[in-house]
Amino acid sequence: MIAKILINTSVNSLNKVYDYLVPDDMLNDIEVGKRVSVSFGRGKNLEEGIVVKLEESIENPKYKLKYISSILDDISYIDEKRLKLAKYIAYIYFCNVYDALKLMLPPGTKSKNSSKSIDTRKDNVIILTKSHDEIMQDIQSNIIKSAKQIQLLTFLMYNEYVLVNDIIDGLSISRSVINTAQKNGYVKIEKVDKQIDFLNELNIKRTEPLRPTDEQKYVIDNISKYIYDEEYKQCLIHGVTGSGKTEVYLQLIDRVLIQGRKAIVLVPEISLTYQTVERFVSRFGNDIAILHSKMTISQRKDEYKRIKRGEVNIVVGARSAIFAPIDDIGLIIIDEEHDTSYYSQTKPKYSTKDIAAYICKENNAVLVLGSATPEIGTYTKALNGTIELFEMKNRAASAKLPDVEIVDLKEDRVLGNTSNISIKLKEAISENIKNKEQTILFLNKRGYNSYLTCKSCGYVFNCPNCDVAMTYHKANGLLLCHYCSHVEKNIRICPKCGGEEISSYELGTEKLEEELKELFPSASILRMDADTTVARDSQQKILDKFKNESIDILIGTQMISKGHDMPNVTLVGIIGADALLAMNDFSSSERAFQNIYQVSGRAGRGKKAGRVLIQTSDSENYIIQAVKNNSYTDFYKMEIDYRKTFGYPPFIDILLFEISGKDFKEVKAEAEKLYNILNFDNQNEYRVFSPKSPYIQRLNNRFRINVMIKARLNSKIYSIIYNKIKIYNTKKKSTVSMSVTKNPIFI
Ligand code: ADP
Ligand code: ZN
Repeated sequence: MIAKILINTSVNSLNKVYDYLVPDDMLNDIEVGKRVSVSFGRGKNLEEGIVVKLEESIENPKYKLKYISSILDDISYIDEKRLKLAKYIAYIYFCNVYDALKLMLPPGTKSKNSSKSIDTRKDNVIILTKSHDEIMQDIQSNIIKSAKQIQLLTFLMYNEYVLVNDIIDGLSISRSVINTAQKNGYVKIEKVDKQIDFLNELNIKRTEPLRPTDEQKYVIDNISKYIYDEEYKQCLIHGVTGSGKTEVYLQLIDRVLIQGRKAIVLVPEISLTYQTVERFVSRFGNDIAILHSKMTISQRKDEYKRIKRGEVNIVVGARSAIFAPIDDIGLIIIDEEHDTSYYSQTKPKYSTKDIAAYICKENNAVLVLGSATPEIGTYTKALNGTIELFEMKNRAASAKLPDVEIVDLKEDRVLGNTSNISIKLKEAISENIKNKEQTILFLNKRGYNSYLTCKSCGYVFNCPNCDVAMTYHKANGLLLCHYCSHVEKNIRICPKCGGEEISSYELGTEKLEEELKELFPSASILRMDADTTVARDSQQKILDKFKNESIDILIGTQMISKGHDMPNVTLVGIIGADALLAMNDFSSSERAFQNIYQVSGRAGRGKKAGRVLIQTSDSENYIIQAVKNNSYTDFYKMEIDYRKTFGYPPFIDILLFEISGKDFKEVKAEAEKLYNILNFDNQNEYRVFSPKSPYIQRLNNRFRINVMIKARLNSKIYSIIYNKIKIYNTKKKSTVSMSVTKNPIFI
């Protein structure tokens, strides 16, 4: 028997299929989609490949065929349909087919040019045994000295449940470093439990479908028709916060199950919490598989196996669950479809909605997108009919939408109030505390990190590996880079001018917490931000605590804007609106509106009415006004005009090519080369912009330069560009790499 094998290589010209002989003793196990190891070319090294086709024999082979060395997988996750999907992804995102196939392998599948079976790797994870504060304290007081120890421990603070092997390979940290950390009591190593604790821990009561409201019924009935007819269709449910979209999803899933088909539900990573999972599990029990990045790799692998064996009909997960090995899909739901986590930031940089649309088309399935603040591009498609639009304008459980008020900070300044909390907000909070009702204060993290600067020369303490300022953690005086985990401590002197007055430039959540403690000494306050929610379930714990222990005030960043139902929250204060308005990306207004609107939606979800106070110095701003009037369409109209005038998506497509490498000159030369190839013989069908550095020019010691194309992409223009990239790939130096983003959300 002959196996046609796609070899795993980054060399594009080798992205071809090669013939190998299947030895007799592998005949029972060989299957399309399994990874194998084969010897390739002249070298003795074994390469990894995937079987894409099996044939009985071939006539007159052009060269002497070699035998497959070994089979690496027990189960095949890739079939004809997925191969086709991979080819599609490779074409639209300029990657090779193997990279696209990797998306469909179970989590933790490692590519290694080795003949050993990868599935036998031990699933040992490394877990911190001390609190972050204790560790930071020990770094600060020199109890932990070695740079490697610091690197390991800070990495673990930001990445929980990492495989020991991944640390050794990925961070080039040796086993002995891990042993030392273990000996000193900072980490423990555990063999992960094969059980899914996530579900078993839940002692969930079954719920019956709610009686739908008129608005819900209309949406359910109409979308169900497409489900019953097995017709490919994209639908957008534009429903205000609390309009009961989730109940609509649940009842649509019911319909698709009756039809004997299956469903995928995608939710943003950050809102894939206990509460979300609970709502699905309470309706469908263990007919659900859950794929969550905070589950351990072996737990996710087990879920993959359950899905593959056909034991579940529903998959609930974050972005990558779109690739779950589920067949017979009748429905894909993407909740909070505007969320940026649906765009992959690693190669291939795919858009989950594009992939979902493709899968639905192939399966004659229905794609349902839901949001209170749809992405501008999605809403435009809904208006021009590519997507069918459903509006839900009222809250479901008779709760009313909150009252939104604007607090003009200019007036506060006139009155001499320089605090971050306006007089009006302060009054509203005390009122709320008195009434035993809860308050959420929202502060946007972006642009609000605290930095260290030198008071005499203005020097900013940047990361030595990345072109970004390091974040200052006041509690223990450490500077930390959130991109590469570099740490600096004991900073007393400015390295530039020798100045001794170093101050932190801050208005972070910590600072706000301090201010609130002064203003309301007896109030109970909780803080939820990236620093307090690193651990696996800490976000959920904070929210539970807030809800169950009637904490007065919760301070948080973006992460509190996502779907948690907290009926006793009657006041939402938005502190950092100005920082959101000040960002200058083409899509930043869109993000600002989504953020402010979604956070406002946290108020008044119970019986009591809600109130939202937005603090701003720019009270006439159309974003703020649109939130105040609870009008998505007001915002949409302004935004779409701007996109049209300045030539941005959805009126035009953008392709952003990023060249990166360690040597700046080389990166620059390569970007020029790409620019010239793209511009050669360009009949004005697209516009290429000169190479340009992105906002963060260097990350982890790699320089980056972008080449941007703007075009109205059709298949002809696309294929011209595609072929030019192929040419560039044959000329590209191997020391630089290229990645492509189609219609990026940030430029
Ligand atoms: P959304 O996802 O649109 O923000 P949710 O699905 O979270 O809204 O619903 C908001 C609240 O309304 C929830 O507490 C939910 O249980 C309740 N709800 C939804 N549909 C109904 C209904 N038909 N009858 C009664 N309560 C409902
Ligand atoms: Zn860094």
